[in-house]
Amino acid sequence: MSGSDGGGDDAWRFGTRAVHAGLTPDPTYGSVIPAIHQTSTFAQRAVGEFVEDYDYARSANPTRSALELALGVLEGGLGSAFSSGMAAIHALITAVCSAGDHVVMPADLYGGTYRLMDKVLTRFGLTYTLVDQTDLDAVAAAVTETTRVVWVETPTNPMLNVVDIPEIVERARGAFVAVDNTFATPVNQRPLELGADAAVHSVTKYLGGHSDTVGGAVVVRDPAVHEQVRFVQNAIGAVPGPFDCFLVHRGLRTLHLRMAAHAAAAEAVVGFLRGAPGVSDVRWPGFSGMVSFRHPDAIGIAGRARLFTLAESLGGVESLIEVPQAMTHQSVEGSAAAVPADLVRLSCGVEAPEDLVEDLRAAIAGAP
Ligand SMILES: *Cc1c(COP(=O)(O)O)cnc(C)c1O
Repeated sequence: MSGSDGGGDDAWRFGTRAVHAGLTPDPTYGSVIPAIHQTSTFAQRAVGEFVEDYDYARSANPTRSALELALGVLEGGLGSAFSSGMAAIHALITAVCSAGDHVVMPADLYGGTYRLMDKVLTRFGLTYTLVDQTDLDAVAAAVTETTRVVWVETPTNPMLNVVDIPEIVERARGAFVAVDNTFATPVNQRPLELGADAAVHSVTKYLGGHSDTVGGAVVVRDPAVHEQVRFVQNAIGAVPGPFDCFLVHRGLRTLHLRMAAHAAAAEAVVGFLRGAPGVSDVRWPGFSGMVSFRHPDAIGIAGRARLFTLAESLGGVESLIEVPQAMTHQSVEGSAAAVPADLVRLSCGVEAPEDLVEDLRAAIAGAP
């Protein structure tokens, strides 16, 4: 039967991998897209005799395995899928760290990651330091003998600062470098190729890409670390269901096309915002659809936008608008990771860029 073995061909370019990774025609009926294995368990031929590692669906499920293979192909490592981005982050940190270990984190990071560290993991003996990772000397100074993990987010959320991954790896003194690659996606940045040990995703965002499911992923380089992550995945049990895996896998197949369209939309929006009345500090890393800017009437603009839906999250085909300080970043309020109250964050979708610009023009024109 023709078709790839799902692992991809090393010579394939990214777009080809995105379309084919993890997918092999079903051997029974030849269906080009494999069936969704909506099952909790697997029949055994005799006691302890089952296909590959499929004995119980928390441990493994073929629909999840296909997605995990694809995630690994796209990031260039060994992938594991989780029920949310937070579950993926929790799994990686708990797989790698033990009580007494220290973690260096960005001062400007996803609020949920900060909350996990500050409110949960510190109760189990981890310590952390927040540092501005665009200041490489500060990163070097924050790494101590007990530092086990240097956590990186780039571009950062919501300030969209870009951090130089190879420079961080150089200053990590052998600590495990994990990169939250949710905003960049492997289309724009592949952390493992840049020397990091792990890439993490909220696949809820660009990888799934359609705002229809919540999920997470960890991709690591080292097979021993991969085994530890899989051990935690099974032991803690924050696994995604088969249908969610199917949705994310379908999303991956158009990732390269969507990321190009998101960037084109963001470029048009940024072109407008840079000259718009009352707008300052327009930020866009030059790729992806994430844009932020400041305006004294941030809350009013978010309320008046119509095509941009007022909602948390990002990375879907439809455009979203939010005010981080009041919405997604409440958990960092009052901490060193706090964000300005007049900041607006946009997730530019793949609509016609002109329509997005017109919507923002009207929302900003309505400011008092
Ligand atoms: C959303 C997000 C997360 C958390 O992922 P969930 O799927 O919501 O659990 C982590 N990191 C970043 C950068 C995010 O945007």
